Amino acid sequence: MTTIGRFAPSPTGDLHLGNLRTALVAWLAARAETGRFLVRLEDLDRVTASIDHERSQLADLAAIGLDWDEEPVRQSERFERYEAAIDQLGDAGLTYPCFCTRREIREAASAPHGEFPDGAYPGTCRNLTASEQARPAAAGRRPALRLRAVGPDGEAPIVDFVDEIAGAYRGRVDDVVLRRNDGVPAYNLAVVVDDAAQGVSQVCRGDDLLSSTPRQIHLQRLLGLSVPRYLHVPLALAPSGERLAKRHGAVTLGALMLRGVTAGEVQDRLLASLGLAGNNDGLPGAIRRFAPHRIPRQPWIVTDLDDRRAG
Ligand code: GLU
Repeated sequence: MTTIGRFAPSPTGDLHLGNLRTALVAWLAARAETGRFLVRLEDLDRVTASIDHERSQLADLAAIGLDWDEEPVRQSERFERYEAAIDQLGDAGLTYPCFCTRREIREAASAPHGEFPDGAYPGTCRNLTASEQARPAAAGRRPALRLRAVGPDGEAPIVDFVDEIAGAYRGRVDDVVLRRNDGVPAYNLAVVVDDAAQGVSQVCRGDDLLSSTPRQIHLQRLLGLSVPRYLHVPLALAPSGERLAKRHGAVTLGALMLRGVTAGEVQDRLLASLGLAGNNDGLPGAIRRFAPHRIPRQPWIVTDLDDRRAG
């Protein structure tokens, strides 16, 4: 079967070097298996996403040498698919409305523990009676919709999988949000529906999403979808140890080009950070050398960042 890989950015800003590096790994992983490569624009949140960011993200990916085999799809145009999956889970009795505010969840959630992901939902609204549900609804509170996540033993399900970069991983699944209280389908649901609909067999993304992967695999199983292979790429960090961000200096292709750095030089730098640079043979050479186990398992510390204030 042909490998189908993808990169799925949220068009909410410019891609920084860490995002570009993850995109490069996703592209190399697919091309190394002579696979297809797709780009999906995860613009569910129409408040933060914009067409301008879409354009600049796609232009930057192309500038560092990446190409894709189909017109990118936008999640904002696929709500019907997400609603159909939500209906499927609802028909199986696996959903419930949740009236909690973010603050209530924060206050009720215990500190990260055991195998639960950060911010795991403590289950406050799971067993509300009909009248307990009617009260906040009558007061105008709009509920989110959550998955009732139950394993064979009646406890929160445990999911094990082997990530091709991060290695063996185990996590418990909480009652993840399926539809937010503003009516927008939630990321974990949409990503699972889209990866399946697009035939994606290789999911490569930043390792900040590693702990959400058990939730996604659990949803795939409930919806009868096949489980793709996973490759989680360590994040890029500033020398301070913080996640790379604009305030750390020239971290986007646009900012670097203003300083006279070419897209080719950025490509070289990303390949070098992955241990895939070699005899000036660019992307074709990197495709030949690529193997998931060669990708460094530590975060990429981005040094020699120009200070914007000095620039
Ligand atoms: N849209 C997500 C992000 O930009 C990535 C989702 C994914 O690759 O599964 O962080």
